[in-house]
Amino acid sequence: MSPSVFRFAPSPNGHLHLGHALSALLNARAASATGGRFLVRIEDIDQTRCTPQLEAELLEDLAWLELEYERPVLRQSEHFADYAKALARLEAMGLVYRGYLTRAEIRRHVEAEDRAGRLWPRDPDGAPLYPRDDMVLTADELAARAASDAPYALRLDMARALSLAGQDLTWRECPSEVPRDGAVPSNWNVPEIVPADPGAWGDVVLARKDTPTSYHLSVVVDDARQGITDVLRGRDLYAATSVHRLLQSLLDLPEPSYRHHRLILGEDGRKLSKSRQDTGLRALREAGWNLARLRAAIDVFDPLGVFS
Ligand code: GLU
Repeated sequence: MSPSVFRFAPSPNGHLHLGHALSALLNARAASATGGRFLVRIEDIDQTRCTPQLEAELLEDLAWLELEYERPVLRQSEHFADYAKALARLEAMGLVYRGYLTRAEIRRHVEAEDRAGRLWPRDPDGAPLYPRDDMVLTADELAARAASDAPYALRLDMARALSLAGQDLTWRECPSEVPRDGAVPSNWNVPEIVPADPGAWGDVVLARKDTPTSYHLSVVVDDARQGITDVLRGRDLYAATSVHRLLQSLLDLPEPSYRHHRLILGEDGRKLSKSRQDTGLRALREAGWNLARLRAAIDVFDPLGVFS
């Protein structure tokens, strides 16, 4: 049997925190316990927020964790042409359109609908679904935007995509954690079959006028390109798996197993984010933490003591 392939795929748009350390460590541990491979992928498609300096600091933080991963790492910004190819394929299937609405226009529309008692649908992350452009703009306004240099997002026509891919997509959700002693749990490869519900996300963004791809598109292209067999990542991306399964189905890409791990929550019970300083790996290092302490902290469910 060919070895399992795991990946840790951080975005260098801020510093790594305890949650990233957990993710990287669980991937490395799963790869080593199962005799698999461990890759690191730099998800730097947002070239305004991801900087070479942040990438260098990310690799420094990763080095502190002393994990073995294969080199060279894949950097998404070097593969824009491949995402463009995948996008062109979806376009050729008639599944992509230009959406011109600005954030403010979407917000105004949604607020007006909510106020009128027609509660506007939200996606699993709580963001309003994209309205149709012609619900908000007149035909003249739309034509004027199309004729001008107005910004737009290339969106997936979800209704058509679902009619092509069928409604009964699923994914395989498997356990995410090999314990510290490295003993692979007996149910490690026993999947729970989860029904995918990509429609809950509406017409997701696949690219923008000035950004040639989106997270959803590049992640499925690269998981396939790198032969990832096991996508082990944070629970915050659980619902997004529905979109990934839809794109894999439309683009004829293989289906990996998914393993979504627990999140480390901050003292206020919210998930950690890169803008919070307190649990950044850098800050912990500067506060005198060593690797043993870090490993011990992420091995307990509640390292910050939120629930105790
Ligand atoms: N780049 C994403 C992040 O930093 C993770 C993508 C994934 O694991 O699918 O949140």
